Amino acid sequence: MSVVPKKIEEAFSEQIKHELESAYIYLSMAAYFDADGFPGMGTWMRAQVQEEQTHAMRFYKHIVERGGHVKLHPLAMPPQDWKSPLAAFEAAYEHEKFITGKIDGLMKLSLAENDHASRSLLQWFVDEQVEEEANTSKVAQDLKLVGNDGRGILMMDRELGTRTFVLAPELAALYAQAAAGA
Ligand code: MG
Repeated sequence: MSVVPKKIEEAFSEQIKHELESAYIYLSMAAYFDADGFPGMGTWMRAQVQEEQTHAMRFYKHIVERGGHVKLHPLAMPPQDWKSPLAAFEAAYEHEKFITGKIDGLMKLSLAENDHASRSLLQWFVDEQVEEEANTSKVAQDLKLVGNDGRGILMMDRELGTRTFVLAPELAALYAQAAAGA
């Protein structure tokens, strides 16, 4: 029997689409960086893709655990090209602000439905969005400072390439293989 309010089930299913579209946009950015000679930024974006996929799975897990039914939507085609690494990270920052608006909307719905379980999950996302905005805006700011200095861009590329993806323990059961290999 489902205990997840119908409106929450539908809105969370819709949010799974937004999170997977985020992954798709960042994978497209990774492809742009990998093709244009910025392998470190490619690595950073590929880690971001994995993180977005786990965001989608947090909503998925919530619906399933409460006896609901996840219903998937079609994904939009992502942009293919950016005029510079700065333009790409600025677009990433703008996209994260868009996602924050979606999370805020979900929180409003959760409060209106008086649904404490979804509110608790959404609080995690409210905090996460503060980080996502800070991370993308910091890289954009640094790239702006570096400007056209090739050495500076190379150094940033190297630094961003050190990013690794760590699977949150609470999601390990959804990723049995990854957990077993860790
Ligand atoms: Mg996300």
